[in-house]
Amino acid sequence: MKRAFNFSAGPAAIPTEVLEKAQKELLNWNGHGCSVMEFGHRTPEFQSLIDKAETDLRKLLSIPEHYKVLFMHGSASHQFSMVPMNLLGTNDTANYLEQAHWSKKAIKEAKRFGNIHVQSAYEQTEHGLSILPENQWKLADNAKYLHYTSNETIVGVQFHKEPEVYQGKLVCDMCSDILSREIDIEKYALIYAGAQKNIGPSGMTLVIVREDLFDQMHTNRVPSLYQYPLMAKHGSLYNTPPSFGIYLASLVFEWLLEQGGVKTMENLNQQKAQLLYEYIDGSSFYHSPVAVDSRSIMNVAFTLSESNLDIEFLQQAKAQGLIALKGHRDFGGMRASIYNAMPFEGVEQLVAFMKKFEAEH
Ligand SMILES: *Cc1c(COP(=O)(O)O)cnc(C)c1O
Repeated sequence: MKRAFNFSAGPAAIPTEVLEKAQKELLNWNGHGCSVMEFGHRTPEFQSLIDKAETDLRKLLSIPEHYKVLFMHGSASHQFSMVPMNLLGTNDTANYLEQAHWSKKAIKEAKRFGNIHVQSAYEQTEHGLSILPENQWKLADNAKYLHYTSNETIVGVQFHKEPEVYQGKLVCDMCSDILSREIDIEKYALIYAGAQKNIGPSGMTLVIVREDLFDQMHTNRVPSLYQYPLMAKHGSLYNTPPSFGIYLASLVFEWLLEQGGVKTMENLNQQKAQLLYEYIDGSSFYHSPVAVDSRSIMNVAFTLSESNLDIEFLQQAKAQGLIALKGHRDFGGMRASIYNAMPFEGVEQLVAFMKKFEAEH
């Protein structure tokens, strides 16, 4: 069977070249006579793998020396707890931006560990859903950090730059746009991202954290596996790491470097998103619910003028090899997730299909 163009929001497409390499190495990794999955994590060979993954990631994102890179177990949802557990003392306050979906879950967990000041970050305008300008946010000024989600995967709303007025530490859930564009790491205190959107398989989560934060962390009541400083001290190898996830991530990092790095991906991602949004805006059959300047270049949400055509749209798209276009269950409509692994051709085929569907209805 031919590989489909996979628009899934997550777990999402992985570059075909990466999967082919993993397939080739599955029975015999680097001549060891077994796969990396079956290989000891306390070996020099695995150490070289994790070191190379870190080096490549540092190159891709220009991560400065004074930031630690952690390859963690679990998902972004674990980080919803880990961040406040480590960064908040019982009487401390943190600011959280409330966005569509994921940030609400982060807020729910954070409330177990400190005083959480919530500021809504979206507004419904006549042009669609929009990010509320920063000068209208009311934040607690004694807070330990501000947590926000750079790209809200569910509705396709994206911050195109970091908050600028806020002077405290920024903690960012970057699950669905990490490695899709250049960022200035030094603007952040801590970044986390589950792998299954733009990195690799689920079960592994990346954390990039400024080292000086370790001195202020409240770790004595935190379980070992949830302590950032301990994980950093052991180079992510305190216990058995998610080794296959780290391996696949390392192949994705190599692939990204071969493509030309993050700037090249950013240009391509811009072009893909532009092609799709321009078509949607020019059509009276499709509609984007998000205001132009808040639109995500990773998750393009759109609706059909008649929602009773949704099922037929999805069925026909699938028959054309365009899969997983159904919107999130809380939101309805369609969503095309066009992460790094989605080639330009996939978006061209989607637009061609949408045109044909529009003409026939
Ligand atoms: C997918 C996603 C999550 C949650 O990931 P899990 O692996 O299900 O915990 C959190 N935040 C954002 C922005 C996401 O896209």
